[in-house]
Amino acid sequence: MPVGTQEFSYHLGLDFFRKMESSDVSSADVEVSLSAKRVGDTYKLFFTLTGVIGIPCDRCLDEMEHRVDTTYAMSVKYGDEYYEGDDVVVIPESWDAYNVARAICDTVMLTIPIMHTHEEGKCNEEMSRLLRQHSAAGDDTETDDTDDGGSSDPRWEALRKLKNNN
Ligand SMILES: [Zn+2]
Repeated sequence: MPVGTQEFSYHLGLDFFRKMESSDVSSADVEVSLSAKRVGDTYKLFFTLTGVIGIPCDRCLDEMEHRVDTTYAMSVKYGDEYYEGDDVVVIPESWDAYNVARAICDTVMLTIPIMHTHEEGKCNEEMSRLLRQHSAAGDDTETDDTDDGGSSDPRWEALRKLKNNN
């Protein structure tokens, strides 16, 4: 790459995330612009990412839209051996290219909050009701341990009733 600044742009579709094995991503439309500046032996890379991806909602598991609007800066330089830090990568002299796909993918994934859900009221109601019931039943198990429950476990009673009704 010559000294100076070069601009690149990429479009990330679903294929990209499939290749990167980000299986939670179910749709994608993200524009990436990369400005790469060579200063001596160091390449300064500056990424701007904007677009939208589809990921499963934590509350109902249906696809939700997640907006991506972020920037990321890193440096790539030549050195004796491969090293990858938070925002600097050292590559051996023998490499004639550095693949930015992993950095781009990680940057997108880092924009996803730990808890991500549809807006209030936009969830798949049927599914979130089932999941709430499931987690409520899960909580019961722990408190049940202390009583001599066993066969009189109310959950089994409920199941039995369901079975008899069918
Ligand atoms: Zn939801």
